[in-house]
Amino acid sequence: MLLVKDMKDLKGKRVIVRVDFNVPQKGGVISDDNRIVAALPTIKELVGKGARLILMSHLGKVKHKEAPEVVEEQKKKNNMAPVAVRLGELLPGVNVKFVNATRGEELKSAVNELKDGEVLLMQNTRYEKGEEKCDPELSKEWASLGDAFVMDAFGSAHRAHASTYGIPEILKAEGKQVALGYLVEKEVVSLDRVVNVPEENHPYIAILGGFKVSDKIKVIDSLLKKCDKVIIGGAMAYTFAVALGRKVGSSPYEPDQLEYAKKMYDTGKILLPVDSKIANDFENPTDIRVVEGDIPEGYQGMDIGPKTAELYAKEIAKAKTVFWNGPMGVFEKDEFTAGTVAVCKACAELKGAFTVIGGGDSASAAKKLGYKEKFSHVSTGGGASLEMIENDGHLPGIDVIK
Ligand code: ADP
Ligand code: MG
Repeated sequence: MLLVKDMKDLKGKRVIVRVDFNVPQKGGVISDDNRIVAALPTIKELVGKGARLILMSHLGKVKHKEAPEVVEEQKKKNNMAPVAVRLGELLPGVNVKFVNATRGEELKSAVNELKDGEVLLMQNTRYEKGEEKCDPELSKEWASLGDAFVMDAFGSAHRAHASTYGIPEILKAEGKQVALGYLVEKEVVSLDRVVNVPEENHPYIAILGGFKVSDKIKVIDSLLKKCDKVIIGGAMAYTFAVALGRKVGSSPYEPDQLEYAKKMYDTGKILLPVDSKIANDFENPTDIRVVEGDIPEGYQGMDIGPKTAELYAKEIAKAKTVFWNGPMGVFEKDEFTAGTVAVCKACAELKGAFTVIGGGDSASAAKKLGYKEKFSHVSTGGGASLEMIENDGHLPGIDVIK
């Protein structure tokens, strides 16, 4: 597997870099540039090697099935131009250009005009209908722009699109250098430690929460095989509770997942909440209380209760490896952060253990609650990190490079 730091003879070569510049923005104002910053080590490495960089990324969603005027509106909303401006500010001394095209002569000549050590950011890859279909013609046209390819978009590595899969597949077949960037390398190395866990790194405990069981079926399956214990919180716990014949009031649960939940519970590895913090209303919780066992009519579960938090913390304290996905409660509301804080704290207090967060909302919860720095690794790719676990370490955008 080639890494960007080991790439050779790049002076004057056109290198396509698939980055993840899918930043939150509105009307051209970027509210969080973390993802741009995260790509800088790879970009700087390649600039330093005298390459001519062509950066590609998607930004937001463009639904090509919609009416033409809707598609135009979505394109306008997800214009990559402001990202180039921000990137330029983050790379003083480097010439950063933008090309408002995704195919054709305008794109080609922008690439041809590049000088050694210059950076060109292409317009949003999703302006092209063929991107998400991994269209062979589009992949061919994009691949023809590069002499080498670097994958540094971990958050898109679980998608076999033209820019993540089509291009490297072609360039690799042509004998050109295809490599993983620094960001992806770190993700692969760290996530491998929760995918392949040797005996001496057990107990391995997974903490699963969040909203739906159905979103996480494959990851639950996979974690039950790898882990010694799977701790369940969040709304998904209510599906398990109903499956075991308990009452959950008006808590959200999934009737079509009951049989599955029961089967999973019968593995004997699953820990469920023994109490819950409940409220009379989700939007406007005026009556908040803690109950053990059944949740009464007219109330819904919003967080794990204090006894559960203590029980889970004790369990986590035994771990040598932890994978956490999904908040224990509605952490966005201050009244219901305690459960999520408890698991964060228990992970933070572990000594010599390897702790990983996978999942967008879990990462923002850890950040909001002040525990992000305490984890060994916080994945930048929510969906990608889960798929990595599900597929035993395999992702299309990474396997194609390997
Ligand atoms: P991740 O992005 O880390 O994979 P999910 O998207 O699965 O996590 O779930 C996060 C969401 O789950 C949060 O918005 C949180 O408010 C919600 N959630 C957690 N517990 C509950 C609950 N008891 N009731 C409703 N929503 C909940
Ligand atoms: Mg989420």
